[in-house]
Amino acid sequence: MSEFRLGKRSLSELNGVHSDLVKVVKRAIEITVQDFSVHDGIRTLEEQKKLVERGASQTLASRHISGHAVDLVPYINGKLRWEWVPIYNIAEAVRLAAKENDIPIRWGGAWDILLTESDDATEDLVTDYVARRRKAGKRAFIDGPHFELPKAIYPDKPKPGE
Ligand SMILES: [Zn+2]
Repeated sequence: MSEFRLGKRSLSELNGVHSDLVKVVKRAIEITVQDFSVHDGIRTLEEQKKLVERGASQTLASRHISGHAVDLVPYINGKLRWEWVPIYNIAEAVRLAAKENDIPIRWGGAWDILLTESDDATEDLVTDYVARRRKAGKRAFIDGPHFELPKAIYPDKPKPGE
C-alpha cells in the first residue's frame, strides 16, 4: 500500500464519473509509487470547446463529458506536474488496478490499444504508439494523464431497451 490518499479536490472531481473508473482510480492511489491528483473528471461541452480551441484536446466528443474519462496528473512537492517519468508510473498503477478489477482501460499515451491488454512497460507503449502513427503518416497526439473506459464496451448513452 502506498502512503498516498486522494484529496478533497480529487474526490470531488470523481463526482459523476462512471463507478468502474472510480474503482480503478481509488485502487490506483493505494498502489502507485507516484502521487497524483484527479485533474478533470466530468467536463461540460463548453469547457471542452475551450480546450479544443487552445489545442489541449482534439475532440468535442470527449469521454470526459459522458463521465467515462479522468486525467491523473503527477502531484510533486505540492504541485501538479505534466512530466513523463511520473506519468509512466501512474499508468503502471492504473493498469494494475484495472486488471485486478477486470476493468478495461484505454490510455492517452497509446490510444490505439487497450492499456490493460498489454504487459509492456508504459514508456514503451508510448514509443511504439508514436512509431505506428509516424509509419501511417499521421501525427501522434499523446495525452499521458488521460485514462478512459473504452467506448466499445462503455457506450456514451445506453442503447434503447437497455
Ligand atoms: Zn483527459
